Amino acid sequence: MNDEVLIRIRGLDKSYRRGDQTIPVLQGLDLDVQSGEFIALMGPSGSGKSTLLNLIAGIDKPTQGTIEIAGVDIAQLSEGELADWRAANIGFIFQFYNLMPVLSALENVELPLLLAGLSASQRRAQAAAVLDMVGMSDRLDHYPNELSGGQQQRVAIARALVTDPTLIVADEPTGDLDRATGEEVLALMDALHRELGKTIVMVTHDPKAAARAQRLVHLEKGVLVDDPSLEGGR
Ligand code: ADP
Ligand code: MG
Repeated sequence: MNDEVLIRIRGLDKSYRRGDQTIPVLQGLDLDVQSGEFIALMGPSGSGKSTLLNLIAGIDKPTQGTIEIAGVDIAQLSEGELADWRAANIGFIFQFYNLMPVLSALENVELPLLLAGLSASQRRAQAAAVLDMVGMSDRLDHYPNELSGGQQQRVAIARALVTDPTLIVADEPTGDLDRATGEEVLALMDALHRELGKTIVMVTHDPKAAARAQRLVHLEKGVLVDDPSLEGGR
């Protein structure tokens, strides 16, 4: 890990409006994440973990504040610019995998490369290479409904990796998996961090999952509180 700040969030507010009601979720939140860091984000259900992750991933826009990622304040980008930025910089891993059911494992992983200006054979080779990395090279032509949950999540991890993104975000990546399969997926996340040097922000409510990270932060009443329990642990 180097000492470069990759994510720098200042004064982040997010509230949702429903009818004439305003629901404040994040309130004056600050966060720095170093390049190459693996952080776990915990907090009670409804505390705004997914909201924060979606803001960092450029899926949603803040009510107020700045979110600088590799020097770009993504809150200032237009919808179109944000979509391009997201495609180039973010790999997103979801709790329920979110694979396209009508596409094979290989086609699902090729999908993010369609915007990258590669030839069909380059896309195929690159997708096959990351599927090999996650141990799925014997399932390239399988459809999602022909794969177990853990296998689908491996494919989803390959899809998140295939563009070599600046940042990987994961929202409860083991939330739908049994303990043993969840451990396999976590070992893979760990390898992305340690072997490939990937920066990862992972939301989880599983303390075992959180223990894989280098740093643990809790979301409480709209702000982040550092948890020292992992210090010196890795
Ligand atoms: P967590 O992931 O920690 O469980 P969320 O970020 O999903 O929490 O939600 C935080 C709060 O924001 C909740 O009270 C939720 O009901 C509310 N919320 C989330 N998304 C929306 C939305 N699109 N519209 C209105 N309220 C929302
Ligand atoms: Mg959530």
